Amino acid sequence: MIPDESTLQLLFAELNNLYFNGEIPACRIAYNARFSNSAGRITYSSRPMVIELSPKHFVEKPEALRETLLHEMIHAWLHARGQDPGHTATFKKKMRECGIGSIYHDMGNVAPFNESKKRYILRCAKCSMEVLRKRRPTQAMSCARCSKRGYDSRFPLTIYEIVELREAGSTVASAAHRGRHR
Ligand SMILES: [Zn+2]
Ligand SMILES: [Zn+2]
Repeated sequence: MIPDESTLQLLFAELNNLYFNGEIPACRIAYNARFSNSAGRITYSSRPMVIELSPKHFVEKPEALRETLLHEMIHAWLHARGQDPGHTATFKKKMRECGIGSIYHDMGNVAPFNESKKRYILRCAKCSMEVLRKRRPTQAMSCARCSKRGYDSRFPLTIYEIVELREAGSTVASAAHRGRHR
């Protein structure tokens, strides 16, 4: 059984006190069943920030949920401090403090995420169109499908970071997953 969302919110508060001195501003923690190949993601641009977790990744490995949440919380913590929220040396140091052994969560024999691959998803809240990007966009972007004449602030694209966690299926299935996102 995976915890419900209100339990996740309590877990967030507990981990925030335990490892971050309560420094992470309020985040909304939610499940999103639409993820296919990542276990968690964070949206920095929402107020509050939103951490989403993929429920299906935790049905077989509920113990991975805490690590995934912590991983996303380190991103949130760095972002709140005005630091680079990426997988920097500071990120890795904090991971060790939180007892996370590897940036590539141990979800079975799945190849590590290749840093050069696309790692951001831009999603339109209106039509749900998603675009994969290697880099985090530096300017506000709007949905190409909804915005008929160039940039339109009514249809912003929300940035999600793809976390390195991979589905722990068979190696054949995960190879197919990786291929699709090349
Ligand atoms: Zn759209
Ligand atoms: Zn990450």
